[in-house]
Amino acid sequence: MAEDRMLKFVGTAKKMPTKRAAEERRADFGEIYREFETAGAAEQAGRCSQCGVPFCQIHCPLHNNIPDWLKLTAEGRLEEAYEVSSATNNFPEICGRICPQDRLCEGNCVIEKGFESVTIGSVEKYITETAFDNGWVKPVKPPREREQSVGIIGGGPGGLAAAEQLRKKGYQVHVYDRYDRMGGLMIYGIPNFKLEKDVVERRSRLLADGGIHMHHNVEIGSTVTLDALRQKHDAILIATGVYKARDFKAPGIGLPGIVPALDYLTASNRKGLGDEVPSFDDGALNATGKRVVVIGGGDTAMDCVRTAVRQGAKSVSCVYRRDRANMPGSQREVANAEEEGVDFKWLSAPEAFLGDDSVTGVRCQQIHLGVPDATGRQSPQVIDGSSFTIECDMAIKALGFDPEDLPKLFGADGLDVSQWGTVRIDFRTMMTSLDGVFAAGDIVRGASLVVWAVRDGRDAAERMHSYLERKAAAAPLGKTADKSGRARSAA
Ligand code: FAD
Ligand code: SF4
Ligand code: SF4
Repeated sequence: MAEDRMLKFVGTAKKMPTKRAAEERRADFGEIYREFETAGAAEQAGRCSQCGVPFCQIHCPLHNNIPDWLKLTAEGRLEEAYEVSSATNNFPEICGRICPQDRLCEGNCVIEKGFESVTIGSVEKYITETAFDNGWVKPVKPPREREQSVGIIGGGPGGLAAAEQLRKKGYQVHVYDRYDRMGGLMIYGIPNFKLEKDVVERRSRLLADGGIHMHHNVEIGSTVTLDALRQKHDAILIATGVYKARDFKAPGIGLPGIVPALDYLTASNRKGLGDEVPSFDDGALNATGKRVVVIGGGDTAMDCVRTAVRQGAKSVSCVYRRDRANMPGSQREVANAEEEGVDFKWLSAPEAFLGDDSVTGVRCQQIHLGVPDATGRQSPQVIDGSSFTIECDMAIKALGFDPEDLPKLFGADGLDVSQWGTVRIDFRTMMTSLDGVFAAGDIVRGASLVVWAVRDGRDAAERMHSYLERKAAAAPLGKTADKSGRARSAA
């Protein structure tokens, strides 16, 4: 009986796929979890209690039908499990790997209280990897071709999810990215040990095989103007992410050897992909043999410290001004970093960077967490006379990201942005202040998560479809209106 396979959470303990030993994983950039065995995945899926009100699903940004695909996995009906899971998620194998599940689906699993959550992310990854192995994952095949075309600026998860959804409806979809590969931060930001790059490239190939036109090395704003793109396509989606590194002022901040996190991670990812990377080869963005200090407490900082460990740094420290409980990074990633030998200096803030020709140390001050501010977070206060120095040969700044000045970059004064520089949209239509120009992902919500970018991309595709249908209906028979409102021939 199918029911017999579920509700096993009392007798069956939570078990993640095997995690490679820290000593082994320090030596390479491979993912740290091995695959589930078939029996293990079914057993873990069978721990689900099939809640009437599944909080896991409510707290998944994509509202994935988690109880159903867990049940199908427990019953060994994996092709159906894949159909269900891929119906709401364009990249389930990616989200299964890198979502912070402890804050989303798994953190809200009702059996978490007392029995530890179902391992939802790992099962999602297992289902999709099985689907790839068995050839069940197919390129998009639209039921009919439409003449209207869309231009998508940015080939990250937001842009690519929208591209796939619009292609499914038969639109002619063109994705433009300033880089030589699609994937956005999934390819050049997130390190291989969290998300192997062939997983991302496999998706990009699949999308291209489905008829999506990928335009590499095209930067909108310099190679092509936004206006030219608007004339060419019936609708535009801006999904450019946020890339301007936050900085801070301190004596010595300009010394050689102090580098921005994303430059460092991109160099490492490119090297792993087999590219020529002079700034890595000459040592500027390479931690091998160095004493490294990373400044910041978010997931980007965790990715930097763990990359430095794998590159063979002599020592790796992480300086963060709050304590462990108040850091923005995932607790799971901190635990992984600690296992791999990273030394955390909690409640510490950089005061000055030392050195003559290049950085030789970071002078820090100890911090005391004061009374909570208006946001409810305790404000960090410096403890007088508490300075201490960490010697280093490389310091990495990982303090977060803000949007670039898009109206200026795009030469589009009419593009409204918020006080933080994120693109303003009408949340009902997802359209910006420019007619036919939509926006999604980090450029709208600020630095966030892959799963939220996928959700935004899917929502934007729906709204763009409504807009395009209205536009087609308004055009004279056999003709569609171009951006400027003029009718153009459908032939
Ligand atoms: P992006 O992924 O940033 O993609 C934007 C794309 O637009 C890029 O390819 C860029 O080249 C292109 N572009 C920009 N400007 C132009 C232009 N003018 N013309 C043409 N193309 C342009 N999220 C998680 O869920 N889990 C994680 O573990 C995780 N780890 C992270 C680690 C790091 C180091 C970083 C920086 C982020 C991490 N994130 C993680 C966040 C996640 O990667 C982002 O939230 C997500 O990628 C945002 O998707 P997006 O499509 O909005 O933008
Ligand atoms: Fe959980 Fe992310 Fe998968 Fe949703 S997409 S079920 S949050 S791992
Ligand atoms: Fe199953 Fe947990 Fe979701 Fe309930 S909350 S349906 S137990 S995964």
